[in-house]
Amino acid sequence: MEERNLIMVPGPTNVPDRVMRAMMKPMIDHRGSEFRTIYRDVAENLRYLFQTEGDVFILTVSGTGGVECAISNVVNPGDKVIVPVFGLFSERVKEKIIRRGGEAIEISLDWGTAPKAEQIKQTVEKEDGVKAIAVLYNETSTGVTVRDLPEIGKIAKDNDALFIVDAVSILGGDQLPVDKWDVDICVTGSQKCLACPPGLALISVSEKAWETVEKTSRPFYLDLVQMRKFSERHETPFTPAIPLVFALDEALKMIREERLEKRFERHKICGEAFYDAVEALNLMQLPKKEDRSHTVIALKKPPDVNNADVRRIMKERYKVVIAGGAGKLRDEIFRIGSMGIISEAEVIRTVSALEAGLIENGFQLRAGAGIEAARRRFSSGR
Ligand code: PLP
Repeated sequence: MEERNLIMVPGPTNVPDRVMRAMMKPMIDHRGSEFRTIYRDVAENLRYLFQTEGDVFILTVSGTGGVECAISNVVNPGDKVIVPVFGLFSERVKEKIIRRGGEAIEISLDWGTAPKAEQIKQTVEKEDGVKAIAVLYNETSTGVTVRDLPEIGKIAKDNDALFIVDAVSILGGDQLPVDKWDVDICVTGSQKCLACPPGLALISVSEKAWETVEKTSRPFYLDLVQMRKFSERHETPFTPAIPLVFALDEALKMIREERLEKRFERHKICGEAFYDAVEALNLMQLPKKEDRSHTVIALKKPPDVNNADVRRIMKERYKVVIAGGAGKLRDEIFRIGSMGIISEAEVIRTVSALEAGLIENGFQLRAGAGIEAARRRFSSGR
């Protein structure tokens, strides 16, 4: 039988067979009526997902390309952009601003902490002529969610700055009503909370953002104005990854069937179950409780335990794949992606494999304590 691991890294995530099968449809012409029908459905469902009345686009690039698209359609050389840096992916947002020739006003924070609205407010008030505030909603390298996102959106709005949000590892797994929270450009990737294969980025653009985009010296492939022009006839400017669009279409249908609120609740309870297990095993979480993510669980590796070896045992013996750290936390933490089709079954199997990997590495724990704590969370339903 074909080997199938449980993929519990922070993306890509497990893809339902229904979504995988959608990619097997016969190829179609991206300038034909079949494509235009799918495009229309996908766009409508993306508006539901982003909770926006604004424009939405499908990009044939990974998440990085989506964030690069956001930055390079609004930042001209010399433009000031405030960017909190609190991990590897927020560092990358800053890097993209700098490569565009923008002036990145960095708010530098410890990895594992989250930027707060007050810090952003002080920085906006200190700086003249801030064009945009770019925030990573969920720092995948540290398992931190920026819970002040709605307040930061308000600060951007009050100061006439654009609000750009990288939501690659969270959109679809936690609250993010784009219009209500004043987000002007929001980006996500197909391979995380949407439970779709990797290869597409999705982006939303507000009415306010268009005024800036139209005046920006834009890139060729990732030109949002071109995308808007082609979207009027339900097409993309260039050849899209058609099988991935089929998959996205199906994944979005599944999201609509479940409904967003239920999906967020499911992600929350699974995240809480992981944290309960972590506590029961006397392991340390990286972020503070108020900053921790429902979609990426980051826990510290106990001393005297080999990070790679724990993960090797989990994979080879139990077919469960989790991630180590990224960047400077490479060996220091484990990261678990709790996204997409995540449910009690995947949580319990992952905790069980983690317990086994730790025991094999000589870590003292009460076998089954983590599983029991997680199970209790699901039984209590909160
Ligand atoms: N932004 C965040 C928050 C991410 O977690 C990732 C990937 O993990 C990216 C951007 C980049 O996405 P990709 O690897 O699809 O380019």
